[in-house]
Amino acid sequence: MSLDDYRRKRDFAKTPEPAPAARPGSASGRRFVIHRHEARAVHYDLRLEHGGALCSWAVPRGFSFDPKDKRLAVRTEDHPIEYLEFTGVIPRGQYGAGTMLIWDRGTFDLVVENDWDTAVAKGELKFVLRGRKLRGEWHMVKTKQAPNSWLLFKSGDRYAGPPRDTVLGVPLDAAIAADLPRAVTVARADAVSAPFSAPDWLFEMKFLGRRILAEKRGDAVRLRGMRKEVPPVLDGLRRLVATDALLDGVLVATDEAGRPSREELERRLRAGAVEELQYYAFDLLHFDEFDTRPMPQLWRKGALRAVLAEPSAVLFVDHVTGSGESLVEAVTQAGLPGVIAKRAHAAYGQPGAWCEVPVAGDAPDADVATALNASRRARRPGRVRFSNLEKVYWPAEGYTKGDLIRHYEQVADLLLPYLMDRPVHMLRYPDGIEGKSFYQRQAPEGLPEWFPTETVVSRSSDETHRHMVCTSRDAILWLVNMGSIDLHPWMSRVGSLESPDYVVIDLDPGSAPFRDVVRVARVVGRILRGIGAQPALKTSGKSGLHIHVALRRGYSYEQGRMFAEGVARAVCRELPEIATVERNVGSRGSRVYLDFMQNRTGQTVVPPYVVRPVRGAQVSAPLAWDELELAIEPSQFTIQTLPERLARHGDLFRPSLDTGLDLLDAVNALQELLRS
Ligand code: MN
Repeated sequence: MSLDDYRRKRDFAKTPEPAPAARPGSASGRRFVIHRHEARAVHYDLRLEHGGALCSWAVPRGFSFDPKDKRLAVRTEDHPIEYLEFTGVIPRGQYGAGTMLIWDRGTFDLVVENDWDTAVAKGELKFVLRGRKLRGEWHMVKTKQAPNSWLLFKSGDRYAGPPRDTVLGVPLDAAIAADLPRAVTVARADAVSAPFSAPDWLFEMKFLGRRILAEKRGDAVRLRGMRKEVPPVLDGLRRLVATDALLDGVLVATDEAGRPSREELERRLRAGAVEELQYYAFDLLHFDEFDTRPMPQLWRKGALRAVLAEPSAVLFVDHVTGSGESLVEAVTQAGLPGVIAKRAHAAYGQPGAWCEVPVAGDAPDADVATALNASRRARRPGRVRFSNLEKVYWPAEGYTKGDLIRHYEQVADLLLPYLMDRPVHMLRYPDGIEGKSFYQRQAPEGLPEWFPTETVVSRSSDETHRHMVCTSRDAILWLVNMGSIDLHPWMSRVGSLESPDYVVIDLDPGSAPFRDVVRVARVVGRILRGIGAQPALKTSGKSGLHIHVALRRGYSYEQGRMFAEGVARAVCRELPEIATVERNVGSRGSRVYLDFMQNRTGQTVVPPYVVRPVRGAQVSAPLAWDELELAIEPSQFTIQTLPERLARHGDLFRPSLDTGLDLLDAVNALQELLRS
């Protein structure tokens, strides 16, 4: 290994990257790091420790757990060991200018030991990675196309599967490296509550049976504390997408009506009739070499779902987020014993994180799956009387107004914080998306008495306008029942209507392909993060993307707009071929328009989770920034696909409500950036 190339390409007076020690060490370690390198083009740098240095490949398209996806990996210069820890911004004009972030790290082993040099000479490497994102065996083969070009792909093993670039699909950052624990204090619901709904809680059905921890330690599987073997469940444990795992759940037998029954379970255990027992897993306490208990509840559920990828007698306890009352209603009707409410962001065993919502009821017949499905469809009594539920709103897909209202019933609790206390306008489509539509900015005749309004004196005329203000779930449902497919809240709230909560940059593709919108969004994100902002990203639900930055209280729309313009111009400077701030539509060509003019009084921006009046019933869907790596299209996000996404990811847009940016600091940082 030689670090001469590394040294020659860099000026260590100007780059924050580590200067290598005089000569590489000799120890052959087993560490690896993957940097996400946001250079001119975003790519990933895979670096494997060998011979006292880091052997490096640039992987432009990132990783996939689908063995069929073969990804180009270009061998680059060896890097010094110190680079294992490096994260930072390489300044403009320097080699590799851009942000270098640690995306994953861990240890690895070669599949054929002590054979690095032969393998590299032969052009074939197989190694097992143990990171938080990448795991299992990976295979690299040198190609004949170019001297440094290799192909990287996943080998077939228990982690291989559908295309995804992280093993469990959720971040394991909060997990702690630890041995599989022998003794565990199981979490209990330590409170009892009346039925409730809250956006940051999830709700599961309570199962009657035996609470048991299920363990997989390599090939050894067992149900802790059980003397009897339950072969179908043990077989399910063997097939988990994990080398080691510890699950929390309930061993269940169902009676003739399909309801879990403790008596039935004990009877079958006594009789040795264990063939049809099932294990309902609701939590993941350990995964491979990680204690997952510190992870947020919702991510543990996401991880658990991924670990249970194969159908077996080990089943996933599904949940609904937000709307606890509708699940309680469904469970009551099904005659099941209750609901467990869990705080979405709590660690396992955190006091007050779980609470039981008991259900009193007789026992009509319905089984577990039916009850969970029913809860997703259930109506909760409210103040809105719905009309014309059978009317077809999306003729091509056959979706009705009833389907639209069901969507809003499911997301209302999550959506409410983004609408709360804001004047809201309707865009009404009384006959569906292909019929006539009209804006309704002011409170209409017949607005119910309980619906709050705010009278605002118009700045342009002296007229007063009476605006509707959204403050409740019922208000959302009332607006939708009026035929407003999406909702249009202001960016500011009653009490401070001249002071927006956030800045928005709206990426409008015009005739540009969506991949250009993605490229532009990445640069917007990089610049914003570079100046200390925490931008939130979502699809508009039509063809573009929205990027929101929460503001500290008290800034004016004009200040927000000037900041957004500065960011937009910095992006255009970097991507002049595909990005523009040109107001004149004809002069934009097929470039993506960065609209910062939306930051003004009375302007509205659709919140996340609303449905748009377009084909496919697309929704405005929050995205994680690293999802921009994938070949993403706005049409993937619809009223059909959103519930699954919410269950997996929770409310990705939540940070846009939390952290307010100090605009003055950010403007200074931006000016600094523009000068450099
Ligand atoms: Mn690189």
